Amino acid sequence: MYYDQDISSVFGELRTSVKGLSPEDAEKRLEEYGKNELKEKEKVSVFRLFLSQFKSILILILVIAAIVSALLGEAIDAAVILFTVFLAGILGFVQEYRAEKAIELLKSLTSPEATVVRNGSEKKIPSTYLVPGDIILLQTGDRIPADARIIEEFNLKVDESSLTGESVPAQKVTDALPAGTSEADRNNMVYAGTAVAYGRGKAVITATGMKTSFGELAGLLGTIERSRTPLQESLDKFGRWIGGATIVIVAFVAVLGVFLGFPPLDMFLWGVALAVAAIPEALPAVVTVGLGLGVRRMVKRHALVRKLPSVETLGATNVICSDKTGTLTQNKMTVERIYVDRQILRVTGGGYDPDGKFLKGDSEKEDPEVSGDDIHLRVLLLSAALCNDSNLYKEEDGWKIRGDPTEAALVVAAAKAGFEKSELDSKYPRLAEIPFSSESKRMTTFNKLDDFPGDVLDSELVAFSKGAPEVILGSCTKIFLDGEIKTLTHGQKQEILEEVKELADQALRVMAFSFRPFEEGFSPEKISSGKIPVERAEEDMVFSGLTGMRDPPREEVKAAIRTCEDAGIKTVMITGDHKVTAAAIARELGILKENDLTLTGSELDSLEEKEFEDRVERVSVYARVYPAHKLRVVEALKKKGYVVAMTGDGVNDAPALKAADMGIAMGITGTDVSKEASSMILTDDNFASIVSAVEEGRNIFKNIRNFITYGLTCHIGEVLIVLIAILGWQILPLMAVQILWINLITDGLPPMALSVEPPDRGLMRQKPRNVEEGLITRREITAGLGIGILVTLQALIVLVWSLESGFSLSKLQTMVFTLVVFSEMFNAFNWRSDRYSVFSLGLFTNKALIYAVLTTVVLQLMVIYVPFLQLAFSTVPLSLPEWGIILALASTTLISMEIVKHINNGKRAD
Ligand code: ADP
Ligand code: MG
Repeated sequence: MYYDQDISSVFGELRTSVKGLSPEDAEKRLEEYGKNELKEKEKVSVFRLFLSQFKSILILILVIAAIVSALLGEAIDAAVILFTVFLAGILGFVQEYRAEKAIELLKSLTSPEATVVRNGSEKKIPSTYLVPGDIILLQTGDRIPADARIIEEFNLKVDESSLTGESVPAQKVTDALPAGTSEADRNNMVYAGTAVAYGRGKAVITATGMKTSFGELAGLLGTIERSRTPLQESLDKFGRWIGGATIVIVAFVAVLGVFLGFPPLDMFLWGVALAVAAIPEALPAVVTVGLGLGVRRMVKRHALVRKLPSVETLGATNVICSDKTGTLTQNKMTVERIYVDRQILRVTGGGYDPDGKFLKGDSEKEDPEVSGDDIHLRVLLLSAALCNDSNLYKEEDGWKIRGDPTEAALVVAAAKAGFEKSELDSKYPRLAEIPFSSESKRMTTFNKLDDFPGDVLDSELVAFSKGAPEVILGSCTKIFLDGEIKTLTHGQKQEILEEVKELADQALRVMAFSFRPFEEGFSPEKISSGKIPVERAEEDMVFSGLTGMRDPPREEVKAAIRTCEDAGIKTVMITGDHKVTAAAIARELGILKENDLTLTGSELDSLEEKEFEDRVERVSVYARVYPAHKLRVVEALKKKGYVVAMTGDGVNDAPALKAADMGIAMGITGTDVSKEASSMILTDDNFASIVSAVEEGRNIFKNIRNFITYGLTCHIGEVLIVLIAILGWQILPLMAVQILWINLITDGLPPMALSVEPPDRGLMRQKPRNVEEGLITRREITAGLGIGILVTLQALIVLVWSLESGFSLSKLQTMVFTLVVFSEMFNAFNWRSDRYSVFSLGLFTNKALIYAVLTTVVLQLMVIYVPFLQLAFSTVPLSLPEWGIILALASTTLISMEIVKHINNGKRAD
């Protein structure tokens, strides 16, 4: 057991050190202990998946019927039926297999990473490659990847509720605990599956994979939900409805047939074939493939969907609440202004290059330079560099940063004055810290500081704080002015706040700094152990100045916001930043308009539920908010009937992400906890990617609806044709095998091709879909009936003409058979779009459909002309004039739909 040993003996036992394992050793251990993952639940085997295609009762009946008819001597018929059933099975299998692959892809993309120390340097690796003995870094929001013993911690608190149900995070320690401490009280251990709620630390891994104490529970990691989507549910319902109706009709017709003197077995076979053809039971699988394909396209556009149903929700989204920093902006900060000793300095130089000057005054040409030796600038930059967790380093292709860009900008600014953070860190070591949080909006470090030049910081222990100006000023009673520490007056406070507003107006992110030399009696141990309350350590501080940093908007965001506007989607900015800064950037991006409101977190707090709901639709910027406010915003918007997408990255954003219809986490800066709470992850943290995903979501929904409507038109046509022919002419216009063939062809390739139809130009100019509205509305039914009746009319014309000309029954059936197949091929082009003409979309822009139709045509020609297939399908060759008439009739399916689209487009205003 590791909890009752001190760290050095834990290291000894695990044969490791603070520097971590060597890569070779890690590799050896990986072989020895296996991957850090939990045994997967049994996967569906390929064979089982294939067999499951034949499970449906109707198919079984059909197979039995075929066997019976084979026994009764109709061997060819039986063989052909079995063959088409087999083909349909393969088709279904291919589709489900592809759906399965799409889900697996998602899984591999969302697998978690961990920061590990190997050979003394930190790097990120997939958590599955962790081995016992690895040293891992833990920080707020991380999911703990394996069981580990703590070796270093700064206020490390771990949320273990997933294991223990205890909702108060457990404070972690590094000391050895007495032997016999119960598992739940082993506070120097962390367990796989729990999450860091606060602070940071280092730990050495003691167990991985199935060996972790709570292995099974940690299985939550990286899972993809496979729940059925609402779409699939509504399809099932639709399918059952159609199925019921079909069976009633078919049974009626079959009985009627027997009554009219057709052989009962034939009628039975024929009836079952018709039922199989007309019941859209393959649809749910096809829909999954459609969703899966969409997911794949979204990955390319930097959006990773974690749950298939989200794809539907995305398309219906009508408000996107987005974080500002990093999502709307580039998160590439540069300090442009510094305010110390009552004056504003301009900082020159861009990017992370530590080259630049500090200039006084506004006149570009002859600004006097302020040297890094200026004591006010020095003190400010010292705080900026010490109270800071990021760092700057040089690589071949320039300067790079590690850590929070806000902090990195400060490191760069300090470097411009000759302060190297790494040097300062070793000269003035950090003894304790209170980390930044979105709630406190500040960070404080306690450093040992004995020989700082000048006598302001003449103390062994100094606290440095940085954070939001109101927060920092709130804890200051003194100010550093004219080289000395003075009492901070009310007037000076006002003056500083004016300055803050001025900087914020220029869209700068403003941060304030303060320090406090401690008298005897304060020790960092007392602070970090809680003997001296945090608030006491952060009070009575000396204000030292402000920085203003620029964070340029992302270039593509402006266009994306305009797209949202056209698409009837409202964009809302949510930020922890200052109201004025937020408003300035929101205005620049086109989010904040003339009559829109901005609301701060504290203003929101003062509003009653009702008052807020009345206002919520007009608010487009929320500033200085806590994560808890996001939840309120989501709830109010949902109450108003909106479909809300909400972004988030921190641990505390998780509730809002869960509550939103679409929780969106950040792939780069997001914590594990926020990713797990989300339904989608942005791999580039970019707002524009949300908009692309919405477009894909809309497109997928449109495609699914279109290919389902296509299927509906086909099925209605088939049933009507045989029904009317039997009732009116006592003729079977199609043989059982022909019906199965038509079904195979219409349900086979064209829907797959229609599911890859690219977004059309109007997609992001329409209002968002109403979520209440189902997949199949009156419009789809009307279209289905319309085209179904049209195809029936075409078939009846052929039928009557054949009868008039005295053709044989085989010829009549061949003609009807071919007509229906070709008519459905023309029809497939109709459903590339429910509103735009195929010719305006470009006839060849959906290559897949062209191939699908060509394949079908070739197959149909084979069925008519290859002798052995003629026998199987009871077909005869057709003459050129007959072909002419069939094609002319079939093409009206496309022509009439084009006319309808044209008329509708004329009526529509947009
Ligand atoms: P957002 O991500 O929306 O910009 P944050 O919660 O990151 O909001 O920041 C809110 C405020 O907290 C900032 O305006 C800044 O004043 C302060 N702040 C941000 N990062 C830090 C940090 N690392 N240390 C101290 N203060 C910070
Ligand atoms: Mg932030």
